[in-house]
Amino acid sequence: MDTLEKLAALGEEARYDLCCGACGTDAGRRKDDIGRWVYPAVMPDGKKVALLKVLQTNVCENDCYYCATRRSSDVRRTAFTPDELARAFEELALRGRVQGLFLSSGVAGSPTRSMDRMLATAELVRRKQGFRGYIHLKILPGSSRAHVEQAMLLADRVSVNLEAPGPERLSRIAPDKDFFSGLIQMMRWVHEIRQSTEALRRVSQTTQLVVGAAQESDAEILRTAARLYREFGLSRVYYSAFQPQPGTPLAELPPTPPLREHRLYQCDFLLRQYGFALDDLPFDDAGFLSLCTDPKAAWAMRHPQHFPVEVNRAELEQLLRVPGIGPKSARRVIQARRQGRIRTLRDLRQLGADAERAAPYVLLDGKRPPYQLPLWDHV
Ligand code: SF4
Repeated sequence: MDTLEKLAALGEEARYDLCCGACGTDAGRRKDDIGRWVYPAVMPDGKKVALLKVLQTNVCENDCYYCATRRSSDVRRTAFTPDELARAFEELALRGRVQGLFLSSGVAGSPTRSMDRMLATAELVRRKQGFRGYIHLKILPGSSRAHVEQAMLLADRVSVNLEAPGPERLSRIAPDKDFFSGLIQMMRWVHEIRQSTEALRRVSQTTQLVVGAAQESDAEILRTAARLYREFGLSRVYYSAFQPQPGTPLAELPPTPPLREHRLYQCDFLLRQYGFALDDLPFDDAGFLSLCTDPKAAWAMRHPQHFPVEVNRAELEQLLRVPGIGPKSARRVIQARRQGRIRTLRDLRQLGADAERAAPYVLLDGKRPPYQLPLWDHV
């Protein structure tokens, strides 16, 4: 294969390869005119950039059941040399097609050998080409601490994909991976290196969990996510609804509804930005979230004793429990109260709240605002 064919093949396969590539959903992905796969990404400063998302190789010695490029699948195998991939990236960057690189790889031969090649590519891009933009490097399962450290010296973000919320769940979908020594240990190293090396604090860490492939519950997923945020200071946990790939051992499993993924993201935000604890989340007896009702609204319905909240007096924590009021609008409410009373739903709307959703749960200057019960639940 020539470089263009490899870019098309290994860019395409980065889409399927969960351990090695997926960063959230495929939303917004665009296939450009010559078949390369470019993904939009939002940087921590809010800037949008186009990323070249590609595998160093689709050769892999592992046999993850959800993966289209696992060792037992019948796909055409290929690989970039570091020099070849670095030059291809440089050309795309010079032409303004991409502003960043998301690089992963199958585990070809050993994690050590595969990481060496990825790092050599990143090294060429950073040091030889002098690229100063965004680089995200995947850390392959079973990598060494030295590799983790080197990846952090070259990248803005690194990620170890956990895929499942615990060892038993992981063994059902990725029997070659070891949950603790192959994955958690590397996340711990990233955290330790960030803590101990001032210059590397800027490097963020993320992970991804596949939703619905291992029969896990939402409670298991969110318990693990909460622990990762707490113990390893992750910037984000991404949830990826399982989509069966033809020809894989999980091909007959039903796809996970995108709404389940959405509910997990909503709860993730409640944990990180709204002051909710894991015990506050409205799981059913089997540990699942309702697909019909937004989790914050579900919590409010289960806790009528906390409402209505007087918008003109409530603490930030109370405002954040009101459906329709988010962190930004809650802060604006508190600021606006210094200038005068908030008396109407219009006032609340002007502060960025979803006033119609908030109406059943608030008092405005001692009065219940008029509202109509919605015909449909908000998603
Ligand atoms: S490690 Fe697993 S997910 Fe990654 S390429 Fe290999 S089989 Fe696919």
